[in-house]
Amino acid sequence: MENELKHELFNQFPKLKELANHDTVLWENTNWQKKAMTNLFSMEEVEKAEETLKRFSSYLKIAFPELLESNGLIESSIQDITLIKKALEKEFDVSIPGQFILKCDHALPISGSIKARGGIFEVLRHAEQLLMANGKLTKEDNFAVLATEDFHAFFQQYTIAVGSTGNLGLSIGIMGKKLGFNVVVHMSSDAKEWKKALLREKGATVIEYEADYSVAVEQGRREAEQDPMCHFIDDENSKDLFAGYAVAAKRLKIQFEKTNITVDEAHPLFVYLPCGVGGGPGGVAYGIREIFGEHAHIFFAEPAASPCMTIGLMTGLHDAISVEDIGLDNKTEADGLAVGRASKFVGKVMETYVSGCYTVKDEELFKSLALAMEVEDLFLEPSAHAGMFGPIQLMKKGQSYLEEHDLVDKMEQATHLVWATGGSMVPVEMREEYMAKVVQGARIND
Ligand SMILES: *Cc1c(COP(=O)(O)O)cnc(C)c1O
Repeated sequence: MENELKHELFNQFPKLKELANHDTVLWENTNWQKKAMTNLFSMEEVEKAEETLKRFSSYLKIAFPELLESNGLIESSIQDITLIKKALEKEFDVSIPGQFILKCDHALPISGSIKARGGIFEVLRHAEQLLMANGKLTKEDNFAVLATEDFHAFFQQYTIAVGSTGNLGLSIGIMGKKLGFNVVVHMSSDAKEWKKALLREKGATVIEYEADYSVAVEQGRREAEQDPMCHFIDDENSKDLFAGYAVAAKRLKIQFEKTNITVDEAHPLFVYLPCGVGGGPGGVAYGIREIFGEHAHIFFAEPAASPCMTIGLMTGLHDAISVEDIGLDNKTEADGLAVGRASKFVGKVMETYVSGCYTVKDEELFKSLALAMEVEDLFLEPSAHAGMFGPIQLMKKGQSYLEEHDLVDKMEQATHLVWATGGSMVPVEMREEYMAKVVQGARIND
């Protein structure tokens, strides 16, 4: 990016300077609209995704017996986390009115992260298209037959490739290999060793890069283009991924109804979503705003070193600006969020849907990690803890947002939904490593 343009941007957007200083910010989206709209995507895609997932349920519960209980549905629960709220209020010296609920995607079956929604869906969608195109199956057939050797051999002719910081590769690798596909995962330098080892154990090919996520994706895309039998799952542009994530909102509505959580004018809903390239949080946000409307307020959470979506939305430049352009290094322990350039597709869709974005420092993520272990024995990976800071940032820095949206006197009846995006697959040794970091750093001042 040219210096002149940079200078202009810094003048036009004062918060960009704070971000460049590695300060934590809450940015409010002035393009937000009560009735959000986009012509880039539609709910019809989400309905279709839900139907595809239903068709595969008979196969999924054979392939993954952990899904027997949910009848083949890949879904997570919601959980009250009042104890964590109290601990955070004390630690960060803030009062947070309203109810604290955790969306437990860290415990999603099959791959233990939010990527078990979009990632697995796109593999299934692609598999279904191949089956139909080759006359192997119709939509009316029982998909349980996919667990047989004949179908495994069919999929072995094909390859699925993906670029990832870790969890997307894990989801696609596990699902793809189970069906019989060849799977090639291009992993960025941030990807954790255990994720690469697990993928190799499952039979996937893992290609490692010294560079960051964007390079891994670009290389993967280029290699896949040369192989007509290869489908590239494009984390930066895929509408299928987005649709798979968005299905979460329909399921959430049912969960809220069952647990008597109301969302209306008197009972606002705040949702805090950790954001990397944007697909996961974007899809979920899209679905929630389409279903819950103007009383759902969505905030994206990013590490102070990697606020790609924040700067993309703020400047309207989307993927034409990177965190390196403003002098940040994109180095964070929140590996799932270590993305320097946001998805243009997601950024454009989100323009009128998302309420804002905020940033969090790594040491804060580790503080939150320690508190959750202490009071709830709950382990989430560092990326997932970015969501915990939403209510804190909102109460400390979001007064003007609450006033503008006439929310100040409604906060006692508010629901804060923290989206826990990953963690249940993290091995014990790795958890201990994280806890050691907490002792060295975040908790040392106590
Ligand atoms: C991938 C990921 C996210 C963010 O999803 P994006 O689609 O990259 O924005 C958040 N948390 C965790 C743990 C992830 O793995």
